[in-house]
Amino acid sequence: MSNIEHKKTALITGITGQDGAYLSRLLLNKGYEVIGLVRSNSHTNKNGLIRLGILENVTLLECDLIDLSQLIQIISTYKPVEIYNLAAQSSVSLSFAQPIGTFSFNTMSVFNLLEAIKLVDKRIKLYHASSSEMYGKVEKLPIVENTVFHPVSPYATSKAAAHWTCINYRESFGLFVSCGILFNHESMLRTNQFFVKKVITEANMIKEGTLDKMFVGNIDIKRDFGYAPLYVEAMHAMLQHDKPDDFVICSGISISLREVIEYIFERVGISLSAYEVDQKLYRPNDIPEIYGNSSKAKKVLGWHYAMTPYELLDKLIGESD
Ligand code: NAP
Repeated sequence: MSNIEHKKTALITGITGQDGAYLSRLLLNKGYEVIGLVRSNSHTNKNGLIRLGILENVTLLECDLIDLSQLIQIISTYKPVEIYNLAAQSSVSLSFAQPIGTFSFNTMSVFNLLEAIKLVDKRIKLYHASSSEMYGKVEKLPIVENTVFHPVSPYATSKAAAHWTCINYRESFGLFVSCGILFNHESMLRTNQFFVKKVITEANMIKEGTLDKMFVGNIDIKRDFGYAPLYVEAMHAMLQHDKPDDFVICSGISISLREVIEYIFERVGISLSAYEVDQKLYRPNDIPEIYGNSSKAKKVLGWHYAMTPYELLDKLIGESD
């Protein structure tokens, strides 16, 4: 038998996203055969996989995650031992503009994966990407796994529904399903749609003279930001643990968006007068402050994270194009 036949196969939905690319790299380094499901092989943006130099090392298959029969066929053919479900409409802002599309894709795709695993092979382990946004308007910080949900966006309600669906299949059918409840995490692979990357990109443009001013929404909210390549390690660790469970993955420190802007502008060397708050960019509802406590993941999975928000920003500024 060749070495290839001994390799474990992992299937990743959302492989073209930020986390999909870093997780692929991690799994390839660990000797997995990596298969990624994409909406369309010809139209999908593969920049993340290209930037990490791994596009040729993964197998990409076209799959509509809303089509259960296609999922069953792919899982039966490729026999993954682990599935990482990262595909989602992942923007909170966009979810207010596309609430029904966001909710239906972010929940139906999860139902289909769970059904496919139940029908094809219940031994397949599933990681599902839950989100800190599920907690929303919390009464007590820091957030831990069993903090009560009060989601405040269509994205958050979709993630809460998907999260409980995963737990339901775990408890009802004995599936190995673990949910990673990740707080915001960033990298050079983030798109400019997301706050930190937008600020770094636009600050550089202002410095170069290609942009006059940056416009932002509510920057007095505080968020817990982490570094994506270190967060994907927790995803893998969850599926190596002997029993399925849910884990909060975060830095444990919150920082206001205003502080993020001021730090980046100073580091890039531009005036703080080059940004302006625009009420039109406010979301209909927002979480004032959120940060978590990852003690469970640290204790049970041995996951480590010690980067401060400013160390993270330094790293992201250093990585920017
Ligand atoms: P991302 O960069 O936005 O990537 C999302 C992925 O989902 C992309 O591969 C995208 O494919 C795919 N996708 C979106 N809509 C789809 C659809 N209708 N059909 C099929 N595929 C679709 O997200 P990420 O930052 O890597 O996050 C990964 C997961 O973690 C997501 O579920 C996200 O909600 C969750 N999460 C992220 C964070 C964070 O801070 N990054 C925090 C908590 C939870 P295309 O390339 O075709 O668009």
